[in-house]
Amino acid sequence: MSSNEVRSILEYFKALLNDLRVSAVPLESVSNDETFLELDQTLKTIRAAAAELGNGNLSHDIKGRGYVLGSIKNLQASLRNLTWITKTIASGDFSQRVHFLGDFSEAFNSMTEKLETSIHDLEEARSHFEMVFQTIPDATVITKISDGTLVAYNRAFMEATKFTDADLSDGEFNIADLYLDLSHRETFIRNLERDGFVENLEFSFLGKNNQQHIGLVSSNLIVIDGIPHTLSVIRDITDLKAIEAKLQQSEERHRLLADNAADVIWTMDLEGRFTYVSPSVEKLRGYTVEEVLAQSAEEVLCPGSLIHMQEGLTRAINSVMNGLPFQVFRGELEQPCKDGSTVWTEATVSGIYSEDGRFVGMLGVSRDISERKIMEEEIRRLSITDKLTQSFNRLKLDETMETQFEWSKDSGLPFAIIILDIDHFKLVNDTYGHQVGDRVLIELVAILHENVRDGDVVGRWGGEEFLIILPDTTLADATLLAQRLRQAVADYSFSTAGQVTISLGVSAYTTDKTPETIVSRADTALYQAKEKGRNRVEVK
Ligand code: GH3
Ligand code: MG
Ligand code: MG
Repeated sequence: MSSNEVRSILEYFKALLNDLRVSAVPLESVSNDETFLELDQTLKTIRAAAAELGNGNLSHDIKGRGYVLGSIKNLQASLRNLTWITKTIASGDFSQRVHFLGDFSEAFNSMTEKLETSIHDLEEARSHFEMVFQTIPDATVITKISDGTLVAYNRAFMEATKFTDADLSDGEFNIADLYLDLSHRETFIRNLERDGFVENLEFSFLGKNNQQHIGLVSSNLIVIDGIPHTLSVIRDITDLKAIEAKLQQSEERHRLLADNAADVIWTMDLEGRFTYVSPSVEKLRGYTVEEVLAQSAEEVLCPGSLIHMQEGLTRAINSVMNGLPFQVFRGELEQPCKDGSTVWTEATVSGIYSEDGRFVGMLGVSRDISERKIMEEEIRRLSITDKLTQSFNRLKLDETMETQFEWSKDSGLPFAIIILDIDHFKLVNDTYGHQVGDRVLIELVAILHENVRDGDVVGRWGGEEFLIILPDTTLADATLLAQRLRQAVADYSFSTAGQVTISLGVSAYTTDKTPETIVSRADTALYQAKEKGRNRVEVK
């Protein structure tokens, strides 16, 4: 072998060790040399294995006594051999020998160095793989495909199956024995042959203590020393399956609850369409679930409530648009019923989010609050009603004075009031007793109501004094009404008490600064009516 040939071999190997996709080609005269070819093959194998290991595929050296380390040993022997050959060839030409031996030893040193690094890296990778294999939380096994013999297993596999090293490490353990249903094993082999891998195949297996498990197996085909094996990862999903079953049960229970609850539970998509309405809606509104699902917002809510709800939902959705959580909407809503009546409900609406946190719709609970509304209205009625006469009380009169005053101030339209007091009422009480006096008060209110319009407000100002508020009424019209009232009372024969008269003071809104000044002018007029002999109307 000439020095050129040796140099070309060295350069070729140098290149080969540096880069798998080597472009250097040795001289033709050496490329068929048997020793060269053997060395070439060994180096290429090392490079390929190193690359595979770099990519995370560790199947080449799985058991630690594999191909890669063996190949490296072969390489070292081959290199020793090459040194000897070159020494022998070089002995004929001293100058050449010195020259190329220098070159060669330099190259050889660098190759040895590289190889040492490679061996170190490979050993590290192997122990790393060993560690990873052992610490994978899922059961992992390597088995021979031909007969199912277990070649390697990790701790998680032992934990899942309860088999011990003694059961598994004698080379006799067959993975097929694990399967509870052999058809699962057949499917596994069929898929592996067809695709070269198996992904998430569910199978039942028995552990050592005959406990049944459900596993999800994913498997890859690997070749160890030319023999096809499988590397399989088994996830024990027994607990997961149990939780899933429970979840489904609880979902069903949830549904059952929604379907039978008195409250109406509903969901709505972002376009405002119902996606679910619980059957209780029929009891609430008389419409069937199908009918409600097809209803528009206008058919679901009375006009005032529709605006209320739209405002609330717009606010809620805006907060979502600004990256904030859906602002829960709570509101009292009036809803139309199939029979033409309406029902009051209290709705609580919250946001529905998808698993990845997107806002996808709304969940609402609507509760019938008709009874509460009736009670609230009754409480309100009682709070503004005089107990004895059932006319309005002072609270309502004050409120009405306030609103009328503001309204006239804004619109310029008139309003008037009449204040009236029973003449010599003390005498009635003294003569016939307090109960007869009460009766007079009740009958008087009836007379007043008979003579005023619907929109007029009649109320007890105190004792046996009454105030009548007359919206949209001039002082002149109010005075006419006062005269008519005076006459009606004077003409009436009260139970037991017989004839009773009243005195009246009239005033109307002009440029008053407060509602009280209007009342005080009417009061002054009333005082004058008393002064002037009673059973009279005075205007101020
Ligand atoms: P005048 O013509 O000046 O108004 O004479 P009067 O007797 O009506 O005098 P005054 O207004 O001072 O007396 C009012 C009386 O009305 C005194 C009170 O006992 C009586 N009274 C007030 N509230 C009630 C009530 O709820 N029931 C009865 N029976 N009497 C009442
Ligand atoms: Mg009085
Ligand atoms: Mg009186």
